[in-house]
Amino acid sequence: MADQCLFCRIVRREIPATIVAETDDCVAFRDINPQAPVHVLVIPRRHVASLNDVTDPNVAGRLAIVAAEIARKEGIADSGYRTVLNTNADAGQTVFHIHLHLLGGRRLGWPPG
Ligand code: 5GP
Ligand code: ZN
Repeated sequence: MADQCLFCRIVRREIPATIVAETDDCVAFRDINPQAPVHVLVIPRRHVASLNDVTDPNVAGRLAIVAAEIARKEGIADSGYRTVLNTNADAGQTVFHIHLHLLGGRRLGWPPG
């Protein structure tokens, strides 16, 4: 399962990605189809399909903290940004390795579509 997972393959460097941050437990890279001037995906190195499968509170916590660090590095911490976890079909999840979207660098609409 994790063998064929797209984001596990990015973690293993089998598929290229523009990596912006790496920690012992997370990898962050630019979204291939950015929806804002800053659009970064933060993922755990270890395969977890979605928020429905998270049992370790450190997973969600680390994704959020790494996203905030990248927001500071990208210069959008003060102007503002959004972090999003899409889960399953109604939220439009297409890659089933949990990923926190970090979006910013423009005014974001609310509510999301
Ligand atoms: P989801 O819709 O599952 O919340 O988000 C998946 C995201 O992964 C999308 O924003 C999509 O553009 C991005 N994505 C899909 N395939 C690739 C890829 O091969 N490389 C990168 N960097 N992003 C990808
Ligand atoms: Zn995976």
